[in-house]
Amino acid sequence: MAILLNENSNTSEKDDDKVYPLVAIRHGVIFPHTESIIQFARPKSVAGVQTAYDGDKKIIFASQKDTKIAEPEAKDLYTVGTLCEIERTLQTNGEMNAFVRGLSRVRLEKVITTKPNYLQATISEIPEIVEDNPEVQALINHITAEFKKAVNLGKAVDIMNFMKLMSGVSPSELVDQIASTLDIKTSEKQQILEITEIKERLKLVSEFISNEIKILEIERNIASKTQKKFDKNMRDTVLRERLKTIQKELGEEGDDDQEIDLLRQQLKRAGLPMEAYKKASKELNRLSRMSPHNPEAGYIRTWIETIIEIPWKNGKRSKVSINKAQKVLDGDHYGLEEVKERIVEYLAVLKLKSDQASKNSSSKKSDDAKSKSSVKIPTVLCFVGPPGVGKTSIGKSIAHSLGREFVKMSLGGMRDEAEIRGHRRTYVGAMPGRIIQGMKNSGTKNPVFMLDEIDKVGSDFRGDPSSALLEVLDPEQNDEFSDHYLEIPYDLSEVIFITTANTLDTIPHALRDRLEIIRFSGYTIAEKREIAKKYLFEKNLERNGLKKKNVTISSEAYDTIIQRYTREAGVRNLEREMAKVFRKVARRIAEGKTSKVTITPTTVPKYLGPFRFQETMAEVKDEIGMATGLAWTQAGGDILFIEVVLMPGRGKLILTGQLGDVMKESASAAFSYIRSRWEDLGLEENFYKKIDLHVHIPEGAIPKDGPSAGITLTTAMVSALTKTQVKKEVAMTGEVTLRGRVLEIGGLKEKVIAAHRAGIKTILVPKENKKDLIKIPKEIKDDITFKYMSHMDQVLKEALQKK
Ligand code: ADP
Repeated sequence: MAILLNENSNTSEKDDDKVYPLVAIRHGVIFPHTESIIQFARPKSVAGVQTAYDGDKKIIFASQKDTKIAEPEAKDLYTVGTLCEIERTLQTNGEMNAFVRGLSRVRLEKVITTKPNYLQATISEIPEIVEDNPEVQALINHITAEFKKAVNLGKAVDIMNFMKLMSGVSPSELVDQIASTLDIKTSEKQQILEITEIKERLKLVSEFISNEIKILEIERNIASKTQKKFDKNMRDTVLRERLKTIQKELGEEGDDDQEIDLLRQQLKRAGLPMEAYKKASKELNRLSRMSPHNPEAGYIRTWIETIIEIPWKNGKRSKVSINKAQKVLDGDHYGLEEVKERIVEYLAVLKLKSDQASKNSSSKKSDDAKSKSSVKIPTVLCFVGPPGVGKTSIGKSIAHSLGREFVKMSLGGMRDEAEIRGHRRTYVGAMPGRIIQGMKNSGTKNPVFMLDEIDKVGSDFRGDPSSALLEVLDPEQNDEFSDHYLEIPYDLSEVIFITTANTLDTIPHALRDRLEIIRFSGYTIAEKREIAKKYLFEKNLERNGLKKKNVTISSEAYDTIIQRYTREAGVRNLEREMAKVFRKVARRIAEGKTSKVTITPTTVPKYLGPFRFQETMAEVKDEIGMATGLAWTQAGGDILFIEVVLMPGRGKLILTGQLGDVMKESASAAFSYIRSRWEDLGLEENFYKKIDLHVHIPEGAIPKDGPSAGITLTTAMVSALTKTQVKKEVAMTGEVTLRGRVLEIGGLKEKVIAAHRAGIKTILVPKENKKDLIKIPKEIKDDITFKYMSHMDQVLKEALQKK
């Protein structure tokens, strides 16, 4: 390790007894290797600097220990100072500015305070110890990098000095210059000045600079946050001002006053009831007094705009014409005779009521301006049925036939009352509820408003939407419907509400009481074919820009699409599959490959890919321990297979396949019935003691429930126990009692349609359901034999093969 003594040409000449002017520095420390302009005001200092400048320009600066002392003496100064050279001076009004260059560290030996009018001192040189080793080099690198970082973070430095520093200077120059820029106390700077070993000095300076970086980082963070906020506000204000100026230049209305005037006019025209108008005007006045930058102004403006957009005036005049209604319904829909009949009846009541109301209002000519000539809508229709059977489209036809607007809102999954009634205005991002939004969209006061999936409304801690719905649907209350956002009662009494549901079971009772139920059952294959031919064909032609002459679909091709590509109660998937065919046809024609396409059963797979379903789902052979039942689900009817196997055991009944409680109970009842009839069934006494019975209903993902599988469960169990085959073409449905009586079930039409689709030939139904057969389409009755059961014995006789 080489130890070098600092060579300084300026100090090497000096002799030890030389007396230098000494000037006290009040704040900070002057380091060797630095240049700075310093201001002196105290007479003693000015005199000292002047003397030095007039002489050999050399001077000693030493820092004061206490800044408060005006006339420091020897004891008040640190004993290590800096020998400097005065390059230039400038004196103004008793003050002196001097350009000072620091030369070297010196120790004050003797301070002379007696003689002239400034301090003097003799000094001794302090040699610097410079090591040249990797540690020092590393420290230098580190300190350089840190210093750069600090400058990048905004540390204030003289740019010339900084560039000089970065271009490579000696270690002691580097450390002194950096030390001079540190934002630290005088005592700390003095500490640095007094260290003679470069390595130690580097270490200390590096500590200080790291601290400074931390502080700078925190400051920058705060500054950038503040800046961002400031920038946004600033930007908004500037943009707003600019907008105003531009609008003025263009001669357009841009003034807030003009905007308020416009709102006022619109409000007048909106036709609000008196009370509502008063409230809205009050809010508008409040808005006019507010600064546009007040956030509340935004909320109030949106509120007023919403009020203006909602229809308040009397609805579209619509005369109910029964003939027209019937025509529209027939024109838009195939079949659905019963449904159409009920709807026409409903419209007839509406017509009578409206005729009566208009007679009353014209004969009375009441001077009460508020007297309502509107008709209270008698009841709320509820269309119940599987998806895709035309509930929505019948709703649209009703609106069309009455010349009213149609709006639809889905209630599925709604759990929050606020979705119906809206949030209070104080809520951030508040909006009116979905009913008022629907009214806004319809733009009239008397639309046909369809509330879809009323059976899927939930309730939880956020409130019960069904109670709000009750208010909406109740003609006694809905002329003053309260929406939390509007805060003004809204009259819904002219609206025709229609609800839809897949099932009635989950509709709350209070709500269900208000509804007039109209059932839609699924379509048979023949009905689907007709719907496809007469309605879906036309629709798809139009949608795909095709002409009638471009496409022909044979009846057999329709049947193939219906049976091999869809399995549903309605026609939604059928419509989708047809759309696929039409799109492909359109493409071929557009590409010029052909001008006419004929679709036959053999060409269908070319358009729709391989068959998705087998022709029939019924069992292919007679089986032991397997019976075919009929089920009703929300998506329409379906057939289900009940499997039973016996295992050695102790009379346990195992049930699997996602069975509901009621179905489980029917299985237990069936088992008890069999045990009580062991003799008649030809079983051993206590036969059950040695076996377990496992009952499984496949397609476990679909939950199954209800009592109507009773006779099917019993048949499957008896078949397994007696080892007798069940006839494959027989399906059955019916509840069974412990004594074997067969009881009536619901949803027969859907079940029968599904059985027909699946290729079932014989259906065993409870005797009491015979009356429902009228509703079954003729073509199904032609294909299927119905047998009416009143006791389980009959069922077993019909369903099981002879042994
Ligand atoms: P839902 O509301 O019951 O789910 P949609 O009304 O949406 O069913 O009906 C699905 C599609 O089937 C619609 O394009 C509709 O026009 C058509 N559709 C359903 N039933 C018939 C019918 N009886 N006659 C003509 N088109 C029908």
